Order: sequence, then C-alpha cells, then structure tokens
Amino acid sequence: GRRMRFVVLGAGESGAGTAYLAQQQGYDVFVSDSGEIADKYKQLLQSWNIRYEEKQHSEDEILKAAEVVKSPGIPGKAPIIRKIKDAGIPVISEIEFAGRYTTAKMICITGSNGKTTTSSLTYHLLKNAGLNVGLAGNIGNSFAYQVATQQFEYYVLELSSYMLDDMYAFKADIAVLLNITPDHLDRYEYKFENYAASKFRITQNQTAADYFIYCADDEEITKGMQERAVAAQTLPFSIKKKLQPGAYLENDNIVIITNQVHFTMSITELALQGKHNIYNSMASGIVARVLELREGSIKESMGNFKNIEHRLEFVARISGINFINDSKATNVNSTWYALESMTSDVVLILGGVDKGNDYSMLKELVKHKVKAIVCLGRDNKRIHDAFEDDVEIIVNTFSAQEAAQVAFHLAAKGDTVLLSPACASFDLFKNYEDRGNQFKDAVKEL
Ligand code: ADP
Repeated sequence: GRRMRFVVLGAGESGAGTAYLAQQQGYDVFVSDSGEIADKYKQLLQSWNIRYEEKQHSEDEILKAAEVVKSPGIPGKAPIIRKIKDAGIPVISEIEFAGRYTTAKMICITGSNGKTTTSSLTYHLLKNAGLNVGLAGNIGNSFAYQVATQQFEYYVLELSSYMLDDMYAFKADIAVLLNITPDHLDRYEYKFENYAASKFRITQNQTAADYFIYCADDEEITKGMQERAVAAQTLPFSIKKKLQPGAYLENDNIVIITNQVHFTMSITELALQGKHNIYNSMASGIVARVLELREGSIKESMGNFKNIEHRLEFVARISGINFINDSKATNVNSTWYALESMTSDVVLILGGVDKGNDYSMLKELVKHKVKAIVCLGRDNKRIHDAFEDDVEIIVNTFSAQEAAQVAFHLAAKGDTVLLSPACASFDLFKNYEDRGNQFKDAVKEL
C-alpha cells in the first residue's frame, strides 16, 4: 500500500535526525525549512534520499502529512503551524516521535538553568558506572538519530521547554526539574505561569513507578507542586532544609537518602564548584542513587567530571588575575549564580541583547563584589541605568578583544575578570559559543 506521509519542519540536527528515523520506519518523508539549510544537513538528506525544500513551506506537500514533527525553534504560533493544526494534523516534537521507537529508560532533565551541566554530569556518572547510556536532547547528536542507530538501555535527555511543549504520550522514568526562573517569555505570551506549566510537562504520564526529582528551594516549583497532583515518587533536593528521602546539605556534605540508604560526599570533593553546582550535583547524585550506582563510582565521577565549555570555565591566570568565561550565562539568574560563587573582587563583563532583563536581583551582589563593569554590547543603556549607583566604573566596549583588554587594566592582582553577560549574544557575535571563544582568544593574547 501507499506509505504514510510524514513531514519534518526545520532541517537542523533535530529535524535531520527525525527524518532519518522516520524514513527507517517506513514513512514517506518530506522535510521543509523556511530558511536556508546548512550544507551539512543538505548533504545528509541527499545521501539518505530524503526529499526536502528550503526557503519556503509548500502547503500542498505539507498538508498531506499524517503527522508533523516541528523543530523546537519554530514557534507554535507560526502561520504554517496554525494551518497544519487547523487541518487536524497532529504536530509533535522530535522527542515524542523518537520515544516511540526505543524501550530505553528515560532520564529527562529540564529547568531554566543548569540543564546542560546536569545532563552532562548525570551522563558521566552513568557511563562511568558501566551503564549502556546515551546523551541527547538539546545536546550532541539528535535523539532521533541515536534511536535509529544505537541500542542504548538508558538515555539522559536534556529537554528545553520548547521540546516539552510538543510532547504528549512521552513519559520520563526519572524526571528532573532544576529551577524555574523567567526566560523565553516571548514564546509564552509573556505569562510566567505558561512557561512554568511547560516545565512541569516533564512529569506528564508518570506513575508511582517513576521518579520526580526537583529543587525544593525553588518557590515556583514548590508552588507548582501544590497546584498539581504529581503521581511519581518525589525526591526533593535542598540546601536550606533537611528533606528525606531526597538530598540536603549538612556541614558542607551532600547527603542523599533513597530507600533509607544514606550517601554522603563532601562538597570540597566535587569537580563542579559554586552554589548552583551543589544543586546540579545533588540532582545528578539522586539519579545515580535511584539507579543504585555504587557509592565509590559516584564519588569518583563527581570528582573527575570536566566542566563543559563556556560555563564558569577557567581560562587563564595572568599577573595574578583569574579570567573566567561564563558566556553561556544568557539570563540574569545564571549571572547571579556566577557572581554568587566568586570569592574575590570581580571585574564583570556584562551585556549584549537584553531580553527584558530585570537587573534588580543582581544589585546586592554587584555592590559587594564588583569593582567595575565592562559593558559588551551595542546598547548598554539599561546596564548603566541599573548599576550607576552601585559601581563607580562602568565602561562600554564593542568587541570581546576590547572588553578583555579594558577588564585587564581595571583588575588588580587577586581579582577575577568574569565574562557572565546575562544577555544573548546576537548583537556582536554569532552565538554564545562564538562570544566565549573570542573572549578566550583575547585573554590568551593579553
Ligand atoms: P542550560 O543548559 O540550562 O542553559 P547550563 O548548564 O548550560 O544551563 O548553564 C548555564 C549557566 O547557568 C551557567 O553559566 C551557570 O552560571 C548557570 N547555572 C548552572 N546551573 C545553574 C543552576 N542550577 N541554577 C542557576 N544557574 C545555574
């Protein structure tokens, strides 16, 4: 008989992988991207004999679909999505689709900040313990491509709210919710509760056989828990309260209690430092204990984990000044945690594309720790307005090189120069990686 038509919108990593898996599953696949498709993915689609179009959406082709997978980058309100939904065609995410074709245990991690760190750390713990585990989602090779080509027994998936929005039947065996703070509100009708609801989808379809690991110090999460019936076994983590089962902090030790078994590890032995990383390590540690990984293995992995680039990444020490690249801090909350973890005076490099930032939460830390602010962005007015009463020196720079040089001059021996911009990078850079790399190159030339 005729094969079912399957349409993939957006041909990036996620879309290309989805197309490959769908073709492998016997669908008649068509890929449509309203922009230009990167050469890499064009070549892959060609080599797989998958039909595609770019710089347009041909409605006659698309509306024949039995089902559509949309890339997370396409807003639900895009005209083409409206038309597809009006035609009664289901629109789902890559994760929802690929989840149908694997029986692996799913460990799903979301939150406004710390997703990549916690997913990478969790993957590291499981892999080092000898589990047959893959890492996917917002990170690395697409989940769909891995499902098509690998036989993992576990997946650690980093899930953004955009991915969660188009998931319906999918279920996490272990769900982790790190925090909920304002981000991406433009995609949620500027309603924080819509964004929070999207994050809580991580618990959808869970039963009493599953686990929900969450930060009990996050008010938005605890509020959300009261409003919802979460069916999974809950395992909270906190550095303020002693909750059990779950994880807490006691005399600089992380204590994790699962099934009445205690696990204890000193925070000084963690490879990832800073308060935010205590949370991330607790979350990963609980996952590891739920899966009954050995204590020695967990401790070893927590101690030898190599932090990923652009997240509080140590760059160099020059004339007694430490340079740190936290380019991935693209919202105010992540910059707060970066500053919070600083133990010396700081020259802070801040700025870029402001996403409607509220800088008030930074003021207290800036007053106490920051001796100068180096703005790195086209329009720095809002930063000047926010901090002119707290910091004497606020200067403008317009390239990573200029920012590194100016910061170097303003810093003294023992200080830290911290790039933690609290803003998106698109005014001066391709993306946050480009910003971080240019900064690192500039520091190395000082
Ligand atoms: P995500 O993948 O959610 O964007 P990352 O792990 O890439 O998060 O970290 C982004 C930035 O957020 C880091 O530079 C760090 O300063 C900050 N951060 C990391 N973990 C947390 C956390 N648990 N809470 C708040 N901020 C965090």
